[in-house]
Amino acid sequence: MLISIESKHNSHESVWDKCLTTIEEKVDSLCYNAWFRYTKLLNPNSQDLIIETTNAFAADYIEENFSDLIEYALNKESVRFNTISFSASETVLEILPEEDHEDDVPVLSASKKVIESPKTEPKLTGSFRPDYTLDNFIVGESNQFAHTSCLAVAEAPGQTCFNPLFIHGDTGLGKTHLLQAVGHFIHDECTADNVLYLSGKDFIDQYMDHVKSQGNSVAFSSKFADVDVLLIDDIHFLRGKTGTQKEFQRIFNNLLVQKKQIILTSDRHPEKIQDMMDHLINRFLGGLVIDIQPPKFETRMEILRSKAASDGIHLPEEVVQYIAGHVTENVRELEGTLIKLIASASFTGTEISMETASRIFGDVISRQNQRLTITSIQKAVADYFGITINQLRAHTRKRDITYPRNIAMYLCKELLKQSRKTIGLDFGGRDYSTVIYACKKIEKEITDNAELQKHVNDITSGLQHLK
Ligand code: ADP
Ligand code: MG
Repeated sequence: MLISIESKHNSHESVWDKCLTTIEEKVDSLCYNAWFRYTKLLNPNSQDLIIETTNAFAADYIEENFSDLIEYALNKESVRFNTISFSASETVLEILPEEDHEDDVPVLSASKKVIESPKTEPKLTGSFRPDYTLDNFIVGESNQFAHTSCLAVAEAPGQTCFNPLFIHGDTGLGKTHLLQAVGHFIHDECTADNVLYLSGKDFIDQYMDHVKSQGNSVAFSSKFADVDVLLIDDIHFLRGKTGTQKEFQRIFNNLLVQKKQIILTSDRHPEKIQDMMDHLINRFLGGLVIDIQPPKFETRMEILRSKAASDGIHLPEEVVQYIAGHVTENVRELEGTLIKLIASASFTGTEISMETASRIFGDVISRQNQRLTITSIQKAVADYFGITINQLRAHTRKRDITYPRNIAMYLCKELLKQSRKTIGLDFGGRDYSTVIYACKKIEKEITDNAELQKHVNDITSGLQHLK
């Protein structure tokens, strides 16, 4: 029997608001803002519920990933239903809150009629690398959300709530690749006409050149008037440059009010960019801010396999594991290591093998191990017990291996601020409960077991020099 929702929920808050509160408690805020914030339950009194999302991509994504959670939230509110389906909203979201307009910056009024210009050939302007495509981008846990958001934006530029889309992360983690991949996708699929890619530095240079040649900044923003999608890489370059920031703000506001898409990348979260105008930072925070983390072991292996395959090179699996096990923090360095290996093997006319890999990359690897990371702890433990990192990560229950592995997991937990989940993943994709078990075991035994104490102390002293 269908419970009448209106009679049961006659408070001001709708049943869907209540469901959203439940959902918000179950997912992190980034996820909630990205997928749920703008959803609506169109027909709460029907048995065949329809949930409206911002676009077709979000509808598919939510259906695929969050159906169970939505069912749970509806059940909690005692909503009876037969089916749930997802639809895409036809209306584009309002992006600029009225009260947020700054007086000193001219902004095109939303109600101003935009004169339709005749359709021209779609344009991709800027230095795009042809290989920076979505197809060539390996998706793993560390970049999945950034990838998904980029895809959503590429499918419907300016029509999602991800505007601007702000991607941040350390160097070499794929921000430029992803940004340019959006441009390629939009161009190939014709989802918008005019895509412009500029680095933050290019933007400053072009602005300076304009001011130098014209004697003032008038008309600089008109260069961006036809842009449908603006991709600015490394926006943090604008820090401390107040004049350029003001000009950027003008362009940014004009594009946003016309519902043009903006995607920005930075080496840090907007709030951590120093000497950036508050108004701009607030604007950056007004869309979707997302980070990219260093890839996990499995993803690093996948990236290596994919890069080698695109060069027509066969990499033995043990070499893949070896490099992925040692070059852990930066994809650019991972790639550099592979290029060096391929070049060296082709010079000497030899096959790529473990021997060549360990000989050639001793220097890269020793540099990597200067830092205290999961890998450097694994290496220290493996060396101490005379086993390999791969054995430590392998799924074996032999005591020769489980004992060092438990110590290594325990040290990772004690010495690093990594979550148990991350540690588990870097130990051959194990579940976090395995890490909890290993740590508890060591903690329990260490007080009464002198040998174990010695092992842990020796290894910890050996790690002292690492930062
Ligand atoms: P960033 O802009 O964050 O400094 P880049 O986009 O320049 O990093 O990436 C550095 C290199 O690593 C590029 O050659 C890029 O193709 C590669 N790369 C980064 N992440 C991935 C990934 N997930 N899949 C494939 N290649 C990647
Ligand atoms: Mg970059």
